[in-house]
Amino acid sequence: MLRLGIDLGGTKIEIVALGDDGRERLRRRVATPKEDYRGILDVVARLVADAESELGESGSIGVGTPGSISRASGLLRGSNSVCLNGKPIKTDLEALLNRQVQVTNDANCFALSEATVGGGAGAEVVFGVILGTGVGAGIVVRGALLTGPNAIAGEWGHNPLPWPRDDERPGAPCFCGHSGCIETFLSGPGIERDHLRATGEAATAHDIGARAAIGDAACEQTMQRYEKRLARALAHVINILDPDAIVLGGGMSNIARLYANVPRLWKSWIFSDRVDTKLVRHAHGDSSGVRGAAWLGVAN
Ligand SMILES: [Zn+2]
Repeated sequence: MLRLGIDLGGTKIEIVALGDDGRERLRRRVATPKEDYRGILDVVARLVADAESELGESGSIGVGTPGSISRASGLLRGSNSVCLNGKPIKTDLEALLNRQVQVTNDANCFALSEATVGGGAGAEVVFGVILGTGVGAGIVVRGALLTGPNAIAGEWGHNPLPWPRDDERPGAPCFCGHSGCIETFLSGPGIERDHLRATGEAATAHDIGARAAIGDAACEQTMQRYEKRLARALAHVINILDPDAIVLGGGMSNIARLYANVPRLWKSWIFSDRVDTKLVRHAHGDSSGVRGAAWLGVAN
């Protein structure tokens, strides 16, 4: 079965075609028409038609995009491509493509991709986390994405940082309206803000990680604060979900020391005498969004 995945982002729309073994058979990328809903639908339809004519067969279709579809209204909400909000994108694409189309958010696509043929392959319960510009997550149980009645399963980035220290309260304001959300500490901008606050020095997340690795004391301290916060945030998840594997993606996931240090730290907050949950790095990086979208598709 051919699986087509589409990553519909604010700047680009990407399509991938996967075979049953997860191998890529085709990949294309085009610019997203700016704030033009009809234009975006047309680009998706053309990418699908071109891929199918080139490969000589039709496929299932999954779409990953920021935001989520309200179960009650069927309309997309919370997308940073504002022209998509309030639109019945799933039903419009189904009408245009003449088959079922699955639509979910990018963190869910990441989790599904990594749980299927990636860092979490073979694990029964996978918590897939994106530590990037924002913090999001998705949950996959025995190969199936968990969505939930509110379509927010895994959205723990806007929970408060657990077991906060006095100097972590109330925390930075978050766009969601609260302060001290996990995202405000664990996103790329979050570690940059923390480093600036502690040292008075502006540095990128990438530089903080790189300089800590060559012995910069201030960056080392920032990394240690980050690791303790990540450990607490994930301990909270393990106490509730008890996943077999936690897979990290997003820019922060490229810092190698996290995979050794965080599991050493998280034991203090996990209510168990031993912890067998694995913390692993993504296998597909930036490609996980579009690959996960392909795994969403159902046969028609
Ligand atoms: Zn928030």
